[in-house]
Amino acid sequence: MKPSAVWHPFTQHATEPEPLLIRRTEGAYVETADGARLLDAISSWWVITHGHRSPRIIEAIRAATETLDQVIFAGLTHEPAEALATALVEMAPAGLDWVFYSDSGSTSVEVALKMALGFHRNTGAARSRIVIMEHSYHGDTIGTMSVGARGVFNAAYDPLLFDVDTIPFPVAGREQDTLDRFEALTRDGRAAALIVEPLVLGAGGMLMYPAWVLTELKRIAERSGTLLIADEVMTGWGRTGTLFACEQAGIAPDILCTSKGLTGGAIPLAATLATDAVFRAHFSTDRAKTFFHSSSYTANPIACAAGLANVAIWRDEPVADRVAALSRMQAEKVARFAGDPRFENVRTAGTIAALDLRVAEAGYLAEVGPKLRAFFLERGLLLRPLGNVIYVLPPYCVTSADLDRLFDAVDEAADLVRRG
Ligand code: PLP
Repeated sequence: MKPSAVWHPFTQHATEPEPLLIRRTEGAYVETADGARLLDAISSWWVITHGHRSPRIIEAIRAATETLDQVIFAGLTHEPAEALATALVEMAPAGLDWVFYSDSGSTSVEVALKMALGFHRNTGAARSRIVIMEHSYHGDTIGTMSVGARGVFNAAYDPLLFDVDTIPFPVAGREQDTLDRFEALTRDGRAAALIVEPLVLGAGGMLMYPAWVLTELKRIAERSGTLLIADEVMTGWGRTGTLFACEQAGIAPDILCTSKGLTGGAIPLAATLATDAVFRAHFSTDRAKTFFHSSSYTANPIACAAGLANVAIWRDEPVADRVAALSRMQAEKVARFAGDPRFENVRTAGTIAALDLRVAEAGYLAEVGPKLRAFFLERGLLLRPLGNVIYVLPPYCVTSADLDRLFDAVDEAADLVRRG
């Protein structure tokens, strides 16, 4: 008999080992049913910020269930959603005055794309092209795959994906090519929006680019009437060193997507923030101009309460100091591999460290990926290299000793790979 009926995400069941049964999570660790403790060095797909089962967030969830469960969010509203929206507007880059809730990173991006198209249609502009950055990832729904890099992940669905225009990733020293291409793409007045992951392209291989490029992209977008969508689903909530990555570029996008760390990672929630101009374009006595989007669980009160607790943690605890300390630790510890012939592109952005293992066969499907994952698991480390790209994206409560143990294992793994 089949032991499990579960079909897991991004999992090749024919070749991968049975998933480990997890029975408890705490701080930077997850614990298996047989008692092994694994350091969650990828924050469970980048969602956990303060740590697993962060006490104030768990307590807020518990308290919320005393009075509320899901309520329809059209025609009704509730205090957790109202208070969280007010807080998000205060904390986000200036000018993002409206908050639209959804349930996941992907839906927050779908909402952003629809807002951009709606904005132009409702203001009478014939703009419907979306510009994307090479190697981007924005989710796995049809719309978000359309605005992400094409490859083995979405080849089967390609016939359904819509056409986009692509600017090159701003490789160090060739950033101007990216800016020039974007500028050229905005000239015919058909570009509706540029969507970017600010500063770090996550699933594309933890590729990092400097803040000034984002500043310039915003300048070109603004000058040409193209909206800028910042997908901060991964980069938000301190990951790159600031609350939102856009802050480092000194810009406010027209639309900003946030999810993952919005509830500290405890429970699903997403929000798409928009400027008043984007909202106003949909504000009309003409009902055809309504923003036609919803999902059943929009603004789930329990999730919003978790989001509010996360905001409270950011407001009354020294989270920024924790993020700064972790960022320094990551930079110091990964520096041991700079100039090491076994690695290339040793890099950090805030709390994220990444380095590429030199192998004959690179890329996401590189054979080395699953082998590395198994090697790290044996050492109690939950890491999921993106092919030959090893990255460390831990919760902010990770300790220096945890990271030492982890980077020692990276060292050991590189030796094993070298010896074949
Ligand atoms: N956008 C970015 C930048 C992401 O990294 C991700 C997920 O990793 C998504 C969107 C999609 O988020 P979700 O998996 O919650 O749908």
